Amino acid sequence: MSARRDSRRAANGAAGPAAARRAGTAVAPGTHRFRGTWIFDLDNTLHNATPHIFPHISRCMTAYLQEHLQLDADDASALRIKYWRRYGATLLGLMRHHGTDPGHFLWHTHQFPELARMVVADHALVHTVRRLPGRKILFSNSPAHYAHAVLDVLGLASLFDSVYAIEHVRYQPKPLRGGFRRLIAQERLVPGRSVMVDDSLPNLRAARLLGMRTVWVSREPRAPDYVTVRVSSVRQLPRLLDDLGMAG
Ligand SMILES: [Mg+2]
Repeated sequence: MSARRDSRRAANGAAGPAAARRAGTAVAPGTHRFRGTWIFDLDNTLHNATPHIFPHISRCMTAYLQEHLQLDADDASALRIKYWRRYGATLLGLMRHHGTDPGHFLWHTHQFPELARMVVADHALVHTVRRLPGRKILFSNSPAHYAHAVLDVLGLASLFDSVYAIEHVRYQPKPLRGGFRRLIAQERLVPGRSVMVDDSLPNLRAARLLGMRTVWVSREPRAPDYVTVRVSSVRQLPRLLDDLGMAG
């Protein structure tokens, strides 16, 4: 840190590591002015979308393709899966090959009249997330109206500093670099002080390549080397702060 920055910090009354050194106090790097950031995925990380929500979205997407591309149910379902496999999101294939309006598609395929009954979650998660030191950002490939609605159901809405949905990253979903880079720039993240928590390995690999630590939410016994820690539930995170460089 430059002297000029030190003096500016002192003038602002900030108690950074340099200020502590001047006062003769030893401060270990990373323990002062904790500025770490957690970046959480939503589906199958903070709740279980597999039993009810994912099947509902798939049905809605197939129906959308049937209606707007004049396909029968089998062809619509096959195209939905083909685009999902090829581009990581059905939406990207629709935008590229059919000129689909992303806002229209996402709104009509993410309607949940009984969302509270469809979300499967451990409601003790609220206490876990509240206890974690540092900034918390949600980064989901889902649309914003859905992400906010699920956070409300989970009781987590007030605990997140920012919510990044697919429309906030110019429809560049994880694991595409463009979405990550936009998030990093907008939030002024320091990747080395950020932890990505996700159930998707491609997403974690991308985060790791950008310099973040990674938490894989999975019950698989073995994790690839770009995974910093594996947990079966986000509730285990408070025990792993040292491993993740997040001990405030
Ligand atoms: Mg997920």
